Amino acid sequence: FIKLSEGLSKTREQITKRLDALLSSHSAFDDDFWEEFEEILIMADVGFEATSELVERMKTRIRNSGETNPENFKDLLREELDEIFKLPKRIKAFNPPEVVMMIGVNGVGKTTTIAKIAHREQMQGRKVLIVAGDTFRAAAIGQLEIWAKRVGAGFFAKDEGSDPAAVAYEAIDYAVKNGYDLMLLDTAGRLHTKTNLMEELLKIRRVLGKKHDEAPHRSILVIDATTGQNAMSQTKLFNEAIGVDELILTKLDGTAKGGIMIAVTMQHKIPITFIGLGEKMEDLRPFNGADFAKALLM
Ligand code: GDP
Repeated sequence: FIKLSEGLSKTREQITKRLDALLSSHSAFDDDFWEEFEEILIMADVGFEATSELVERMKTRIRNSGETNPENFKDLLREELDEIFKLPKRIKAFNPPEVVMMIGVNGVGKTTTIAKIAHREQMQGRKVLIVAGDTFRAAAIGQLEIWAKRVGAGFFAKDEGSDPAAVAYEAIDYAVKNGYDLMLLDTAGRLHTKTNLMEELLKIRRVLGKKHDEAPHRSILVIDATTGQNAMSQTKLFNEAIGVDELILTKLDGTAKGGIMIAVTMQHKIPITFIGLGEKMEDLRPFNGADFAKALLM
C-alpha cells in the first residue's frame, strides 16, 4: 500500500519546495517573509481565511518562542499543525449494531470509502453490513453490492426508487436479526436538488433515531481533496444542514491540494478520521495530525 509520505508527495512538493526556498533566502521574520509564507499557503489551497489565521498563529508562536532564525521555522510550523489537528473525536455510546451514516456528494469516492471502511472493520473482527440508502440511482446500488461482495461484507438493499428512510428502517431489523456489529449506510449525494437531499437525509436520521438507540451514532462526510475549495463549501453545507461528526478526505494521492486538510480543520473544527490514498480497499489510512505534519514538512 502507499506510504503517507508518498501519497502526500505532490502536496509536499507544492509546499516544501517553496518553503525551503523562502527559509534559505530570509535571515529574519520580516514583512517580506510573512507575505511570501502567506502566498505559499494560498497556492497550496489552504484558502484565505485559514491562511490568515495560520499566519497570525505562527507569528504568535514565533514571538513566544523567542526564535529569530527562519532556519527553525519548519519545526515550529509542525508543532502548530499538530495542535490544529488535535480535535477531540465525537464519541456516542451505542448498543449494537453501531449505525454510521455516510454522506457526501456523488463522485467524491463515497462508495469506495464505504468498502474500505468495511474491509478495515472486518479485518478487526467486526461483522459489517453495507446498506444501499441511495435508492435514486440503480447503478449506485449495483456498485455498492459489487464492493460488498469483494470485501466480504453483508449487503442490504431494496428496489431503485424505494424510500431511503424505509430502507434504513428495515436494514436495522435485518442487522439486529443477523447479528451485525456495524451498519454502514450509504446515502444519496445528488447536489442539484439540495433541499430535497437535505430533507431526505434528515428524515433518515429521524427514522433511525426512533428505531434504534439514537442512531446514527456517527455521521461521516466524505469529501474529495482534489476539489479544493469545493470540498470546503460541501463541508459547510452538510454540517449546517444535518451535522457532521467526522470527515474523510479522499484522493489525497496525486493532488497538490492537500492544504485543504488544514483549511477544513481550522474552519470547521471537525476531526478528520481517515484519508484515502488510492483506489484499492487497503488504501484508507487513519489520520494522525502529527504524522501528517511530519510527512508534509519533510
Ligand atoms: P461516489 O460516487 O462518491 O460513490 O464515488 P466512487 O466511490 O464511485 O469513486 C469515484 C472514483 O474515485 C472511482 O474511480 C474511485 O476509484 C476513485 N477514488 C475513490 N477514492 C480514491 C482515493 O482515495 N484515491 C484515488 N486515487 N481515487 C479514489
